[in-house]
Amino acid sequence: MLNLIFFGPPGVGKGTQAARVAKHYDLVHISTGDILRAEIKQATDMGMIVKDIITAGELVPDDLLIELLESTCDKHKGTKGFVFDGFPRTIRQAEALDEMMERKQCKVSKVISLEVPPDELLRRLVNRAIEQGRTDDTAEVIKNRLVVYQKHTKPLIDFYKLKNIFVEVLGVGTIEGIFASLCNVIDNRY
Ligand code: AMP
Repeated sequence: MLNLIFFGPPGVGKGTQAARVAKHYDLVHISTGDILRAEIKQATDMGMIVKDIITAGELVPDDLLIELLESTCDKHKGTKGFVFDGFPRTIRQAEALDEMMERKQCKVSKVISLEVPPDELLRRLVNRAIEQGRTDDTAEVIKNRLVVYQKHTKPLIDFYKLKNIFVEVLGVGTIEGIFASLCNVIDNRY
């Protein structure tokens, strides 16, 4: 199996590239943010629980996310692999993912970190707020999401560097150019 994690702060372009990579390599793209937004839209029990958390730019509790991820993966038995986008976001989630992989006798192949300078990141988030009207893309919430990223998610860099599966790819340039760099990394041509 080819299991990839797309890593990086909000606005770095994970969603766009994760979808392209999944299509290209015939993998299942799992965006926890998209799943949660769909739950809110459908006003499910889960949607009701997570709505205010997401709107505030905070993290949804680990237990909920881990359960959500496992049940989503279980719907795709027999897949060639997964592209995880927006998961894991905490060490606890990363450990749970490792345990799940072990149970399925596979592992995370690579953690791909998209690198974008902070001023470009802010510009993209503000643009997305205008284009998509996401409730968590207001200036104040954007700031909080970046703080939450620094505190809870950034420590994952060392977690995955220790496992020697962490790779950085420049997330600046055209969508095609970035995609080509990603393919080089995934195909070990770097
Ligand atoms: P995203 O679309 O990946 O930026 O996710 C949007 C929001 O969904 C985040 O700001 C969190 O509130 C929530 N969320 C998505 N994935 C996770 C996760 N792995 N752990 C906790 N909260 C998450």
